[in-house]
Amino acid sequence: MNQSRAALAAIAVVIPLAMLATVYTGRPAQQGGQEHDKVRLVASFYPLYEFASRVGGDKASVSSLVPAGIEPHDWEPTAQDRLRVSDADILVINGAGFESWAGEMEAKVVVDTSQGIDHGANPHIWLDPVIAKHQVEKIREAVIVADPANADYYKKNADSFLTELDQLNSFIKLQLADCEKSDFIAFHDAFAYFAARYGLTQHAIHDVSPEGDILPQKLQQVISLANQLGINVIYSEDLVDSRLADTIAGEIPGGRVLVLSPVEGIKQQEQDAGIGYIDKMKENVANLRVGLECR
Ligand SMILES: [Zn+2]
Repeated sequence: MNQSRAALAAIAVVIPLAMLATVYTGRPAQQGGQEHDKVRLVASFYPLYEFASRVGGDKASVSSLVPAGIEPHDWEPTAQDRLRVSDADILVINGAGFESWAGEMEAKVVVDTSQGIDHGANPHIWLDPVIAKHQVEKIREAVIVADPANADYYKKNADSFLTELDQLNSFIKLQLADCEKSDFIAFHDAFAYFAARYGLTQHAIHDVSPEGDILPQKLQQVISLANQLGINVIYSEDLVDSRLADTIAGEIPGGRVLVLSPVEGIKQQEQDAGIGYIDKMKENVANLRVGLECR
């Protein structure tokens, strides 16, 4: 008797909790009338988050699935992330195989920003500012479909960012126009499109992901390559442990380590300081100029 009463009491407790859960997992937008009117975009990781934020301006609420400063390659969505996606109006992804989890998401609309780009097996298309423009245009199209009443506003926002990307492209060309070297050693194979755009040859310590173990033979290969090409700058990244790059640089005469950011994430304190994609790309160019011995 006591047992079944206890069981009933347990059920009585469980049911209201379950009901509460369904109420409170609803869109946070319901809490405030203004938020409710905004187009809700969820971007997969940093550059898409910035691109979507620039297009959406204050008429969209944009969030990133991968938290600030976290390397996105091995990131996996939680149940909560899935809810965020199914609740949003648009899921913005890089595509080209970067988000291996994207197919499992129940999104209303998915914008694959790599669509229409000839990308092969390497997903790092955003590091070519010309391809990044295409990604911004794909986001613009989708946001306009979701909120046609504000089409002019989104077009204006996109145009202003596209102009900045054009200027960045010209800036990079100019900065890298007169260099002694054209080969550089990146931490991972992220700069293939960038290198192709600016006539450079990228070599990489890691393959398409900056994580995982590196065999001693591979390390030796990189050191030999650096010596053979007279390279003395080894590039590390802003979101990885630089010890591997330090080790390699230590084996090269005059070797040193500089950062070449794949812009796969920007730390919160940097974002708060207003540092974004274009700043990171300009830092990259400044560090590349050292390694390539540009005048
Ligand atoms: Zn990468």
